[in-house]
Amino acid sequence: MALIVQKYGGTSVGNTERIKNVAARVAKSRAQGDQVVVVVSAMSGVTDNLIKMAKDIMPLPTEREMDMLLATGEQTTIALTAMALHAIGVEAVSFTGAQAGIVTDGVHTKAKIQNITPSQVHGMLDSGKVVIVAGFQGQTKEGQITTLGRGGSDLTAIALAAALSADLCQIYTDVDGVYTADPRIVKTARKLPEISYDEMLELASLGAKVMQSRSVEFAKKFGVVFEVRSSLNDNPGTIVKEETASMEDVVIRGVSLDKNQAKVTLLSVPDRPGVASRVFKALADATINVDMIVQNVSHGSGVPTTDLSFTVDKPELLKATKVINGLKQEIGFSEFTADEKIGKLSIVGVGMRSHSGVAAKMFDTLAQNGVNIDMISTSEIKISVIINLEKGEAAMRAVHQAFIG
Ligand code: ASP
Ligand code: MG
Repeated sequence: MALIVQKYGGTSVGNTERIKNVAARVAKSRAQGDQVVVVVSAMSGVTDNLIKMAKDIMPLPTEREMDMLLATGEQTTIALTAMALHAIGVEAVSFTGAQAGIVTDGVHTKAKIQNITPSQVHGMLDSGKVVIVAGFQGQTKEGQITTLGRGGSDLTAIALAAALSADLCQIYTDVDGVYTADPRIVKTARKLPEISYDEMLELASLGAKVMQSRSVEFAKKFGVVFEVRSSLNDNPGTIVKEETASMEDVVIRGVSLDKNQAKVTLLSVPDRPGVASRVFKALADATINVDMIVQNVSHGSGVPTTDLSFTVDKPELLKATKVINGLKQEIGFSEFTADEKIGKLSIVGVGMRSHSGVAAKMFDTLAQNGVNIDMISTSEIKISVIINLEKGEAAMRAVHQAFIG
């Protein structure tokens, strides 16, 4: 008897028919004698809609109330999924994150899991029930409801798989697995049979929205091997696991485009020690994640000045601009601009370590397609560029064509 954790994303539980379909799948695993823990997301569009309603009421609601609101999305799905199982004669019980023993820190809207004590889950499994757990949510040790950041149901599933020492962790979604690029944008994109944690991590954090990146980090740390597959068919998915030697033979595993970034530029910043530290400390204190940073060569006589650009997640732009505005007097830059019309295009592959000329080929492809590069950043297995959002998809197709076909 195996213990399986299955996670179903928003599209897979997008309406009651789909929820019945999930129940049928779960029943099939259960009928094979396996113990099944099901983690579900909110029905597709629900979380976005809740956010929209909150913003209609005020632009910057408190994060505690946001968590209180957003946690309801998953709570709807767990109850409906349990009912769908009852309807076909399968014993099942739904649990909130708190009931599943998921304890987090108190950073509302992007809490980190501190520990999981799934004793109630074990108890129910032992009594023969399927356990349905609300993804994306947890509770602080003081009893406050928290959420784990957008896409956080993946993290719930991976963390539960680790805590329960599950034999199998399956992430069911609306795509067949991890592709070399988003197949809706790049028609020639191919499904990958397997991918390393590091590549998946780069692709996830770069906006290939297959999975939340924190969940992949967690899987890597705890060695949770998982499969990404479709809830709409029986095709095998993509196995995500530790890197193997043959993985380096492929130069580029995938191309991704992140449309969810915004760029902030501080103009004429006095170039003296401590300025960058002040800016990024203030952003960090406001728990804003900064991604790319570019500082120009400084110019001018006296105290030279420079321009400083960085990117943040689009939903945090308003918060970031408030923070930056508050620093204007103290630091003395001339003005700042915010640009939401950017995209981050990236290529990823562990093969980059052993192949040269990869960056040159990417930049050449962009140049030939008339795409201007705004910012560049690289890591051992990734090259990212910030480009004009309007050119993003065409640029992605061109780069995919150049490297993968
Ligand atoms: N419902 C949450 C979201 O839309 C969590 C999830 O789907 O994983 O971000
Ligand atoms: Mg989701």
